[in-house]
Amino acid sequence: MYKFGVIGPGAVGAVIGESLQKSGCNVTLLGRKAGKVHIERVKSSKAVILPVEGISEATGSFDYLFITVKGTQLEGVLPFLEQLTQPNTVCILCQNGFGQLEKFQIPHAYQAVVYISGQKKGQIATHFRDRILILPENEVTTKLKEAVTESNLDIQLRSNYHYEVWYKLIVNLAINSVTALSRNTALILQEEKVRKLCEKLIQEGIAIAAAEGIHFEEKTTEEIMGIYGGYPSYMGTSMYYDMINGQAMEIDFIQGFLYQKSREHDLYTPCLDTVYSLLLASEMGG
Ligand code: NAP
Repeated sequence: MYKFGVIGPGAVGAVIGESLQKSGCNVTLLGRKAGKVHIERVKSSKAVILPVEGISEATGSFDYLFITVKGTQLEGVLPFLEQLTQPNTVCILCQNGFGQLEKFQIPHAYQAVVYISGQKKGQIATHFRDRILILPENEVTTKLKEAVTESNLDIQLRSNYHYEVWYKLIVNLAINSVTALSRNTALILQEEKVRKLCEKLIQEGIAIAAAEGIHFEEKTTEEIMGIYGGYPSYMGTSMYYDMINGQAMEIDFIQGFLYQKSREHDLYTPCLDTVYSLLLASEMGG
């Protein structure tokens, strides 16, 4: 039986752990310290409680290791990977943004495009919807998909994986930037000027993707604006919640990654440059 590990018992990690555990997989959730995580759902009174082991006390290696900490927390996890892996371990980095895989000294490491929506407060992870992880299609990921076939974790393998990565990056770029900087929820989309700014950010993201060889259709801007239009006005984004809670935001891996690519291709991306500068400025000082 394969040994699965999940590092980061938060909104995403708890749901992955739950899916694997329910289907009878041998899975261990690893947190900063030992404890429990409660998974709740709005329409269900049944809370699921999963045990969490402290990462520094964990012994032995895993066959599959899902890493579900935030981009800003990855440096704290990397030193533990040597003891938690063997040469055939497959690591699946489940994060928004892109550009962190090169930090892995492991032969089989992939980043998933994550569609699991939830939020963690204290020891409670509230799962809103979806259990989808999108990965590149190859022999290793096919084997993983087979290994979790009995679970309700929806692993989708794509030959156009990089298209999916860029789509999610662009979706995150606009809405995360405007909600974090305004310290306000999706309510702000009711203001036309904010919608126009989102459109410009999306178009700049699409131009950067094109320079990287990933081409989106013209209707993509409208499509992404349609996704935003479906957000309830009270909904925040991960960067919005990080901003109001005074926590580190995943700026380097979303806006920073895109800014870097824009510079590499010598592109004119004034909206991205502005929101990136302001987000960096918002984290300066105390
Ligand atoms: P989260 O709820 O904050 O969960 C992260 C978990 O990792 C927390 O339990 C945290 O513990 C733990 N952690 C941090 N450092 C650790 C360490 N060194 N060792 C062990 N555990 C550690 O974050 P999330 O919302 O699940 O997000 C994870 C990633 O998925 C992010 O990149 C996010 O952008 C992406 N994502 C999230 C959603 C969503 O709806 N939540 C959707 C799509 C993508 P502490 O609580 O002690 O800090």
